[in-house]
Amino acid sequence: MSAPAITEINHYINGAIVRDEGGRRAPVYNPATGEQTGSVALASADRTREAIAAAAEAFPAWQAITPLRRARVMFKFKALLEDNLPRLAEAITREHGKVYSDARGEVIRGLEVVEFACGIPHLLKGGHSIDVGTDVDSWSQQHPVGVCAGITPFNFPAMVPMWMFPIAIACGNTFVLKPSEKDPTLPMMLAELLAEAGLPAGVFNVLNGDREAVDTLLTDDRVAAISFVGSTPIAEHVYSTGAAHGKRAQALGGAKNHMVVMPDADIEGAADALMGAAYGSAGERCMAISVAVPVGEETADRLVAALQSRLAGLRVGNGLDSNEPEMGPLVTHEHRQKVADYVEIGVQEGAALVHDGRAIEVPGHSHGFFLGPCLFDRVTPEMRIYREEIFGPVLSVVRAADFDEAAAIVNGHEFGNGTAIFTRDGDAARTYAQAIEAGMVGINVPIPVPMAFYSFGGWKRSRFGVLHAHGPDAVRFYTRMKTITARWPRGVRSDNQFVMPTMQ
Ligand code: NAD
Repeated sequence: MSAPAITEINHYINGAIVRDEGGRRAPVYNPATGEQTGSVALASADRTREAIAAAAEAFPAWQAITPLRRARVMFKFKALLEDNLPRLAEAITREHGKVYSDARGEVIRGLEVVEFACGIPHLLKGGHSIDVGTDVDSWSQQHPVGVCAGITPFNFPAMVPMWMFPIAIACGNTFVLKPSEKDPTLPMMLAELLAEAGLPAGVFNVLNGDREAVDTLLTDDRVAAISFVGSTPIAEHVYSTGAAHGKRAQALGGAKNHMVVMPDADIEGAADALMGAAYGSAGERCMAISVAVPVGEETADRLVAALQSRLAGLRVGNGLDSNEPEMGPLVTHEHRQKVADYVEIGVQEGAALVHDGRAIEVPGHSHGFFLGPCLFDRVTPEMRIYREEIFGPVLSVVRAADFDEAAAIVNGHEFGNGTAIFTRDGDAARTYAQAIEAGMVGINVPIPVPMAFYSFGGWKRSRFGVLHAHGPDAVRFYTRMKTITARWPRGVRSDNQFVMPTMQ
């Protein structure tokens, strides 16, 4: 079989593809075949400053365009996303590995943020009071902040960038996106669609790169706001460095999401939900459930048995194959190895590996980065496989004696992104939702990702900064408020007018 052609992926700056001659590059793979399919440019500090300069230059004209007209660009962008949905989803599957139906879902969840951004004239209305004092009126209005930067992870190459730039741009800002170097094609496609939608050059720029580009964005005075989504150590670095350089910063980090299963839950339904939540997208979701906490020994035995019976039949394969696999490969060979190493660590730590997917073979894909689903029972909170984020198809079962112990386990973890409880008991569900320390809670909903018109974000070490992503918080993050208080002296009121008054 001949090697596939390797596509060059460059930058999109000021409305044009910009190529780095002789600069650093990184390989991009198709994880299902293991073949290198692309070579992505890694921006130098100079190239990063060029992208910032383009965004800074485009800002005055873009902020002067009315919100209504900015919304019209978003309406066109939304229609183009719909028209191009199959092409976009296929590109995600080729570089990320998630199955095609899941990739489609990702684009749609991003598109919903664009729909929210289409309402920007309403979202920017602010507040108005007449007579805050005698003949004194006061109102608040929201202004764009300037050049915004977004730094995004590999696991949602379309959706996570679309948590950020549609709202930032609709608010009147300009944007530099630094996507993951592991799957950089999709953001370049989004840049082209935005241009087709009528967005002026320089308003949205894609800068491919790694730490050098990120650190330049974090320290350049012209960048006003930084949004980050990725792992916790980098999130902390981005938040503290950005803030130290006078920028507003929001940084969403890693997760270890727990699902508590109460004795009265529908165990078969909970097992079905867990299969999708733990193994969908090969566990490479920040909202994946990686820990199940059944309450009581009988619940645990039934849940583990129900999962085991399903695991044998889970279809793993190339996400573009016509047999519609349910789970694809991991993103890179190195990441697959890291996850496999964690499975070995779990065995060494004494957890019971009741389903081992390490030896999986996908016919015709012997070089793909596949790892079958793994299930550990009798995991304890001291184990590394419990404490650390694995970000792969590995589900740990931590048994709890009662509701209080289950809640204490969840609250004892350093991360607090999302969590779920499966129960038929309204009291248990309500108590859990109120007492649990996490930013997003599902009640009989395994992956409670808020819709675009709510905001997304975790608690504790899953998020740094005040505001959450997308929804109303994003409008606050990408604007600065001005409050005006006005008193007018008595004017001259004697000129008579005999024509129908019109707005001057
Ligand atoms: P990552 O932290 O390795 O990379 C994220 C971004 O940071 C990428 O653009 C990368 O190029 C850049 N980066 C990497 N190392 C850097 C460094 N040393 N200095 C500066 N920038 C650097 O994360 P990833 O592996 O791409 O994505 C997976 C992680 O993202 C998981 O931890 C997952 O939980 C998290 N995630 C969180 C959310 C959320 O909403 N909380 C959503 C999606 C993913």
